Amino acid sequence: MTVALPKRPAAKKQRKPTSLFIPELVFFEPEALNYPKGKQIMQWVQAQNIPYRMTTSHNRITNLPGETEAEQYKIAKRTLVVGLRKTLTFDQSKPSADYAIPIATGCMGHCHYCYLQTTLGAKPYIRVYVNTDDIINSAKKYIEERAPEITIFEAACTSDPLGLEHITGSLAELITFMAAEPLGRLRFVTKYQHVEPLLSLKHNGHTRIRFSVNADYVIRNFEPATSSFEERIEAAAKIARAGYPLGFIIAPIIWHEGWEEGYAELLAKLAQALPPEAGKDLTFEMIQHRFTKTAKTVIEKRYPKSKLEMDIEKRKKKWGRWGQNKYVYPDEQQKALREFITERIFEHFPQSGIDYFT
Ligand code: SF4
Repeated sequence: MTVALPKRPAAKKQRKPTSLFIPELVFFEPEALNYPKGKQIMQWVQAQNIPYRMTTSHNRITNLPGETEAEQYKIAKRTLVVGLRKTLTFDQSKPSADYAIPIATGCMGHCHYCYLQTTLGAKPYIRVYVNTDDIINSAKKYIEERAPEITIFEAACTSDPLGLEHITGSLAELITFMAAEPLGRLRFVTKYQHVEPLLSLKHNGHTRIRFSVNADYVIRNFEPATSSFEERIEAAAKIARAGYPLGFIIAPIIWHEGWEEGYAELLAKLAQALPPEAGKDLTFEMIQHRFTKTAKTVIEKRYPKSKLEMDIEKRKKKWGRWGQNKYVYPDEQQKALREFITERIFEHFPQSGIDYFT
């Protein structure tokens, strides 16, 4: 007779710490090598033994390795292009800031819902800009034009710049510049944990660093190739201890089975993990999930097994700023999400501020 042994609870799979991003292929635009940052990135690339090529312009990169479109997309996400930022007029960046400050475009993350899927179209590779002085001079002009108003710049509109900081050092330059600007403020959001290079900088409280967080279901199912929730929170605690204003962006808020428990647990875990100094100047931003028809087509092609719900019938149509309708949750669901999460925020962080729900 065989006796069935009681089943042992499955050991929780230990996730490896998220390592720094190392591209698999790098392109240099020749002009980039006339700048100290371009030279420094070239040295780093050579020291890491990463294959590199020269290209006259990123627009000419058409021959990425990979047999299928899906493979090329994956490789593009691990391809870095080092060049110059030519357009020095900044886009508006409502509601989180006044202007988007461009230091990088593209990201190594694979978040299924990411709007870069469509905005970067067929060019999902990562571009970093070496002419940071020009970008900073432009920012200075915007600050002067708007004086005596404070001008806020968002550095994460087209990328996750913290994930690239070990290669560029551009955030450190912006933070240091903004520290000396009485009327300038910087903010950026990240899903990565690599905050070490920023901890000892003089920031004067002029840079707000926000971490993108979400219910466990969302992080587990839709955010491959980003840092884990625990890593992000550990980094947030370091940022708070370094005296930076801290924030969390809960985005995209996704209606899923068990969403109330999921978001309640998120806020409870944040409260448990953060040191007391984090609560002093803490902000929250909330962004519900939205998509366009174009995004839906691209996402279904790139992540065919994704559980991301994009059923137009279940959504409310909203006119988008870029001329395309987007699909958000119907009013009743929006209200339920907003009210429930707001209550949990104030339950755990009564002194924090909520910047917006959109
Ligand atoms: S980390 Fe941010 S920018 Fe990068 S893929 Fe995810 S959502 Fe997009």
